[in-house]
Amino acid sequence: MDHDEITRWLREEDPEALTRLWARADEVRRDNVGDQVHLRGLIEIGNYCVRRCGYCGLSAGRSGLQRYRMSAGEILDCAAQAVEYGYGTVVIQAGEDPLLTAEFIGGLVAEIKSTTPLAVTLSLGERGDEELAHWRSAGADRYLLRFETSNRGLFDRIHPPLGDRRSDRPAMLLRMAEMGYEVGSGVMVGIPGQTYDDLAGDVETFARLNLDMIGLGPYIPHPDTPLGAETGAGADQAPASEELTYRVMALARLVCPLANIPSTSALATLNLAEGRELGLARGANVVMPNLTPRQYRPMYEIYPAKACIRETARQCHSCMRSRIESLGRSVGLGPGASPNYLARRRQTSGDVTCVQ
Ligand code: SF4
Repeated sequence: MDHDEITRWLREEDPEALTRLWARADEVRRDNVGDQVHLRGLIEIGNYCVRRCGYCGLSAGRSGLQRYRMSAGEILDCAAQAVEYGYGTVVIQAGEDPLLTAEFIGGLVAEIKSTTPLAVTLSLGERGDEELAHWRSAGADRYLLRFETSNRGLFDRIHPPLGDRRSDRPAMLLRMAEMGYEVGSGVMVGIPGQTYDDLAGDVETFARLNLDMIGLGPYIPHPDTPLGAETGAGADQAPASEELTYRVMALARLVCPLANIPSTSALATLNLAEGRELGLARGANVVMPNLTPRQYRPMYEIYPAKACIRETARQCHSCMRSRIESLGRSVGLGPGASPNYLARRRQTSGDVTCVQ
């Protein structure tokens, strides 16, 4: 699929054509990653962050947000809950926080890997190669870092540099793949200033980076952030809509058929009744029930009015299971590594491409 064809699909308005796109994405999903929906237990271990991303409610520039860091004991209790609920993976997520040190995270990972059958995914921002290598050798299986947009100018506008450090997330993702991580990334849809052409470039970048996991969510403005007041009313502005997010998700499935793709909580935030289900029917094969203790959830406020912040982990668990079963799909067993990653690991030449 070339750039023009991707752009045409992003702009498609004919309902019948879109029905064909959803059906094709669902078929490619079934043929390549099967009917199982994998559950990743999300643990939001802290909301401190040194960065000032223009859209994010955890930004260091935001005052008035109560900050927290979970203790090792609290995190390990969440991991034990993941085992109890039959999840194959925990996702340890936080802002970019240097006080979550290489030793602290490495110790946690080693403890989880030596006492449970869980796969461990880390999502801790832009970290140095030494830390990443340390966590990998402690047993971390996966790393998530969204590149957010492939438009370099737009990326720089919404991600102010930290000191003189210039971000290069695509390069970092490629280095993580070389370290042996299963690598995930993704974008926001409808960032002010983002065009349809940019989004087509994002879909091409998923394929170019040969991603194992692709996370997508609509941009949801936070009123207490610099970007929150911008409307992005340019002529070619891509809307931050649920519908456009599904199109990007379906196209991601077509260009990276072997990747794991979550139906994200941002989709559920826009459409609590059926956002997750529609994502699962349009290319996704993963959901992420929240294991974060209830007292911390409102503080992990990347965007406002996030879905499911008041439910207990047990409530999230049974809700997700019944939603999966209502679609006639089954809950995935085991760690649920992406077939793309498994194929890449089998290759000695490393020349597998995920472009269909
Ligand atoms: S998006 Fe991530 S790195 Fe940026 S401010 Fe928010 S938590 Fe920090």
